[in-house]
Parts: sequence; structure tokens; C-alpha cells
Amino acid sequence: MSDGDQVQDWRRIVLYGRNVASYKFALARALLQFGERGNDLILLSDLAVPFANEITRHLKLADTQATSKSSRFLEACRAFNRQEISEDQLRSKTVQLGFNNVIDAFHVVDHSDVRHRFFDDERTESRGIRLTEHFYRLVNSTQYGNLIEETESRWRLVETAWDFSISPNLLKVDYDHEERKFFMGVGQKRVGITSARAALDGYQRGRCFYCSAPISIVPGDPLLADIDHFFPWMLMSRGLPVLLDALWNLVLACAECNRGSNGKFERMPAFHLVERLHRRNEWLIRSYKPLRETLFKLAGRQEKARKEFLLKVYSEATRYCNPNPWEPPSRGPDVL
Ligand SMILES: [Zn+2]
Repeated sequence: MSDGDQVQDWRRIVLYGRNVASYKFALARALLQFGERGNDLILLSDLAVPFANEITRHLKLADTQATSKSSRFLEACRAFNRQEISEDQLRSKTVQLGFNNVIDAFHVVDHSDVRHRFFDDERTESRGIRLTEHFYRLVNSTQYGNLIEETESRWRLVETAWDFSISPNLLKVDYDHEERKFFMGVGQKRVGITSARAALDGYQRGRCFYCSAPISIVPGDPLLADIDHFFPWMLMSRGLPVLLDALWNLVLACAECNRGSNGKFERMPAFHLVERLHRRNEWLIRSYKPLRETLFKLAGRQEKARKEFLLKVYSEATRYCNPNPWEPPSRGPDVL
């Protein structure tokens, strides 16, 4: 068993679990803050404030944090933001109301539990939850910093989608080339949501798209990933009639692959890498709204149509550039 198994399960929870409320993200982030502590039993009364703080912080970003109309717990969080209740009152409301479903549902993805549990429910015996060895493996993994950023990014995407409160098939995530961020918009309304790095990293499992070297999305880290256009951006200026500055064409690459001595720069990637891009995009599609709708809209609801779209772009693109494709050596395990 490698640390990767735990990281993978954590990512499944954050990226692929269905959401009726954002509590899972809040619990994920609150737990990651407990990683450094010696004691593996976390009393709900100790967890309550870090957990509720995540929710109160996000309520200021997007007032919709659940799909149901009313929630007594969210009302308490809003009251705290309006300074109508104290932190002690927020704590006791959170212990009473905040954990009901999230502790039961945290590990569920696609109707069953992930393989590794990160905590055991000891509410009855000990009024808390107990962190497991799998949780500590996660904390000690090189991906730890990335997971914190990815959880925040996924949360921003989900809450922004709820905040627009429109039909999912109208949602669209756009990339802003200057800011390297994703925006969500309908008509004139456009909201900046998350850095492209944080949104994409989980779907590449924290590794370079091309060579599988480990990458980071934490600002200032020496392994900080570059955002690369699989089909080079300049093809648009040469006349390729496809919007390449978009989610489906953006991948994270290590600096060596993107701009090292034998880097990709403006070359076309080797043909067989189209298959890998397709797989990466199918991972994105599994994550429900809003990324899924964005890809559906571009290339169809059927997997076959989406693959044909990529193959078509590849064959078109070769007409506009150097015919010698680029491919790097492998620098890690294949994850895509
Ligand atoms: Zn690389």
C-alpha cells in the first residue's frame, strides 16, 4: 500500500462526492488543520469552531452553501457573521446541528465508502471522531499542500454554481489567460472562482501531465506547476478555428517539460498523448457541475463524441505547425 492510495481516496471524496451542502469541504479543511496535533481523538467541541469558521468564511464569498432552502446550522453561521451570536454560541450550535450528516456521509462516493477511512465515528462513546493511520499518511504525503488548495478550489466551483442558481446546463467555466484563473459566467455576469492550477491538479493526481514528475500548486514551491496548452496557444493566431484557451486544453506541466532544455514550448505533443488528454477530461467530467457541463457543451454528452472532437482538433492542428511532435521522458508513475 502506498501513500498514493490514501491521497487518491481523499481526492475522490473532495472531487467526486455528490454535494447537497458544502459541509464536506468544511470538514475536509478543518481536519487538515488537525494534522499536526498529537492526539487522534478530536472532540466535536474542539472541531466545531474550526469547522464552522470554514463555513462562515465561505458564506461571505457565496451565501448559498446548501441546496435546501433552510438550515438552522447555516442560520447560526450567518448570525455569527452578523455578530449576533458569540463564538461560544456558535460552538454549541455547531456541536448540536453542524455534524449530523457530514460525519456519516464524508467517506461516501458513488454510494459506497472509499477504501480508506480517515476517521472513525466515536460520537456515541467519546463525543468525537478518531483520526486513523490513513489520515496521518495523508498528512505526511508530499501532496498535503496541494490537497488543501484543491479542496478550496473545488468548494469555490460548487458554491459559485449554486449561487448562480440556474440550470446546470447553462453553467460554463471560462479561463482568463491573464489571471490564470477560471471564471464562471452567464451573460454579462462573470465571477472569478479559482486558480486554474488548483482546479486542475486533482485530476492529474499532483503530477505533470506529460512526464508524471511531482508538481505543486502551492505558491512559492520550487515544484510549482506551469499551466500549459496541450494544443499550443499560438495555433489560434495561425488560424486554427478552435478556442484553445479553455478548460479542455489546459494541463499542468512541470517546468522541465514546459520550458526546460528539451521543453515543449510551442510544439505539438505526440499523437498518443491525445488519449491521455481524453482520459484527463473524462476525470473532470466525473466531477459533476460545473466542470462537467462545460465539457459537455464543447464536445457533446457522449464520450465517443468528445474523443472524436480531440482527434479532429489534432489532425487540424498538424496543418498549422511543425510536423515533428514533442514527447518527454517519463519521470514518474503513469497516473493518467
Ligand atoms: Zn513534466
